[in-house]
Amino acid sequence: MAAEFVLILNAGSSSLKFSIFETTDGESWKLDAKGSIEGLGSSPRLSIKNSAGSQIADQDLDRQVGGREALDILSEWLRKQYAGAQLQGVGHRVVHGGDRYRRPVLVDHETLEDLRRLIPLAPLHQPHNLNAIEAVFERFRCVPQVACFDTSFHRVHAPVAELIPLPWEICERMGLRRYGFHGLSFEYISSVLPKVAPEIARGRVIVAHLGNGASLCAIRNGKSVDCSSSYTALDGVCMGTRPGAVDPGAILRLFQGCGLSVADVECILYEKSGLLGISGISNDMRLLLASKDSRAALAVDYFVYQVSKQMGALVAVLGGLDGVVFTAGVGENSAEIRRRVCEAATWLGVKIDADANERRASRITTADSKVSAWVIPTNEELMIALHTGQLLGLMHAKA
Ligand code: ADP
Repeated sequence: MAAEFVLILNAGSSSLKFSIFETTDGESWKLDAKGSIEGLGSSPRLSIKNSAGSQIADQDLDRQVGGREALDILSEWLRKQYAGAQLQGVGHRVVHGGDRYRRPVLVDHETLEDLRRLIPLAPLHQPHNLNAIEAVFERFRCVPQVACFDTSFHRVHAPVAELIPLPWEICERMGLRRYGFHGLSFEYISSVLPKVAPEIARGRVIVAHLGNGASLCAIRNGKSVDCSSSYTALDGVCMGTRPGAVDPGAILRLFQGCGLSVADVECILYEKSGLLGISGISNDMRLLLASKDSRAALAVDYFVYQVSKQMGALVAVLGGLDGVVFTAGVGENSAEIRRRVCEAATWLGVKIDADANERRASRITTADSKVSAWVIPTNEELMIALHTGQLLGLMHAKA
C-alpha cells in the first residue's frame, strides 16, 4: 500500500510540538519527522528532525508568531515536504477529557464546543489544545481529527480514589474530582510492558513519570488504579515549577495574609513553585544536581522525598509491589535521581544494580531484587498515533 501519514500535535501556551508518523503496512507507525516551534510570543524558533535524528529545519521566526501563525508555518512546511501525499488524520493531545471522554474521540465542531466546557478545569493547557483543533479545521478542511486525553487512562478508578472531600453539591456542580494526568504516557508504558518487562506486566507496578511535570501512577494488570495527580496537574509530587501537594491552608494564607489576587496565586502555583520555588535557581534538574547551592540541594532532596513518599502511598493502594518504571526527562536521564529513589525504596524490596543504572540499562535492579526497576522511554506521540490510526480505521491490527 502507499504510505499513509498522520500528524500528531501537542499545542501548549508557548510551544507547538508535532510529529509525523507514517505507515506502509497498516500495522505499525514509524516516526518520519518530529519538531517544535518553541518560544511562541517571545522568540519563536522552528526546529525539525527526521527519523534518523538529523536536523532538517532550524530557524528563528518572526517575533509576532503565536499559536495560529505557528500552525500556518507548519501547514506550509507539510505541504512542501509531503507534496502529493495524503494526510490521513491529525491526532491531538488534549489535557482534559473530564468525566465524559473516557477514550479518544473523533472531533467535530460540536465535540469541540463541548470540550471548551472543560477549560476552567485546565485553564493553562486546554484552550491551546482546542485552538489547535480549530485551526486545523480551518487549514485542512477534510482531514479528520482525533482528540486523545491525558485523563482517559485513569477513568477506571474506584469512586473512593476519585473523591475530593469538599461539600458534595459543590463537587457535583463544579466537576471537582481526582481526574489524574499523564495518562497517555502511562498508557504507553503499560502497553509496552508485556514486551519489555513481561515478568511484571500483569502485576502491581508504579510508573514514575518524572519530567518537568511529574506524577506517579499505580497500575495493576495494565490498568490504572490510582495516581498522584488529581483535580489539576498541581497535586501530587513536587514538579519543576508546580508544588505538588500543599496544605490548602497555606494557599488560603496567600490570599488572606499577602493580599494576592487569584491570578497572582495561579501564577505562583503553576510557574513559581516546586523545584524553582525551593531553589530560587531553576526548575531544571540538571542545573540543580550540578549546583553547590544548599537550596538547590534541598530542592532535589524534597523531590526525591516526595516521590518516595508517594510511592509508599501507592504501594498501600496496590497492596504490594512487583515493579517500578522510571520514565520522562528526569526518569530516563538522571541515574542519580533513579538511584536515590530506588535506595529509598529498599524497604519495599528494590535492590538497585549500580552499574546497570549508570549505563541506563532497561532493567536496573539486581537479579535477586524482590521488586524490579526499569527505565522505559515514554512515547506519548506514538500512543496518540495509535489511537488516531485505530479510530480512523487506518490500522489492521494494534501495533
Ligand atoms: P516535560 O515534558 O514535562 O516538559 P520532560 O519529560 O521533557 O518534561 O523533562 C524535562 C526535564 O528533564 C528537564 O527539566 C530536566 O530537568 C530533566 N532532565 C533532562 N535530562 C536530564 C539529565 N541528564 N539529568 C537530570 N535531569 C534531566
